[in-house]
Amino acid sequence: MADFHLTSREYHPENTIIEVGGAAVGDGGLALIAGPCSIESEDQIVRIAKAVKAAGATMLRGGAFKPRTSPYTFQGLEAEGLEYLIKAGREAGLPTVSEITDETQLDLFGDIDIIQVGAKNMQNFGLLHALGKVPQPILLKRGFGCTYEEVLSSAEHIMAAGNERVILCERGIRTFETYTRFTFDVSSIPSLKTLTHLPVIADPSHPAGRYELIEPLSLAAVAAGADGLIIEVHDRPDEALCDAEQALKPDKFESIVEKALKVKAAV
Ligand code: PEP
Ligand code: MN
Repeated sequence: MADFHLTSREYHPENTIIEVGGAAVGDGGLALIAGPCSIESEDQIVRIAKAVKAAGATMLRGGAFKPRTSPYTFQGLEAEGLEYLIKAGREAGLPTVSEITDETQLDLFGDIDIIQVGAKNMQNFGLLHALGKVPQPILLKRGFGCTYEEVLSSAEHIMAAGNERVILCERGIRTFETYTRFTFDVSSIPSLKTLTHLPVIADPSHPAGRYELIEPLSLAAVAAGADGLIIEVHDRPDEALCDAEQALKPDKFESIVEKALKVKAAV
């Protein structure tokens, strides 16, 4: 793979380990990133941060800039949301992960530990180049119409621009199936892990689209070799302003954590 000097395992046989705020991704353990789809209030994110920490999460997620399909749905609390996320992460003792949708937001992300690029922005090359200049690791989600090679090319853009700390994330692709929100492509995990030294995690929440499928998809991802999971958790799913149908309660997340750690140990 001549065009993949930075991402290819050919040039870098050892796994890349990404360390952030006392947590690691790709070190042979399981990174467990959990939290709500979107930050809705200070109280909500602090409550959920403490609940996911108690359930075994190693990092806290929460969206402040939401790339919603409709302009008439909740778009996120933006700068205010990031402040609440940082506070919640500090109170719970968890590093934070949040999605950026435009490079003009970068100044607001200084205290966020991992910057997420969403599926819809995987090929926003201007954004990828800007993220090549930041000190934080980047969580790059697979575009739902993108091949493995395209995922790696996007990672290559970030790395060539100067940031070698990239985590890849499978989050489902668009197929003809409509029962699930997207089709979880479990093959991407061992395929990407063969092609690249970068860590590969899985998001079972967005392909499932329904909370009852999240446990089996999580366990399948870990069995396939995922370095971690990013799962949407809300303690009051009925009140969630975004992705309510796929929101898991903290006790259910805790039982997934227990089983996922056993599957990880078995493989
Ligand atoms: C999210 O993580 O909330 C999200 C919007 O995910 P994706 O970019 O994978 O759709
Ligand atoms: Mn979501």
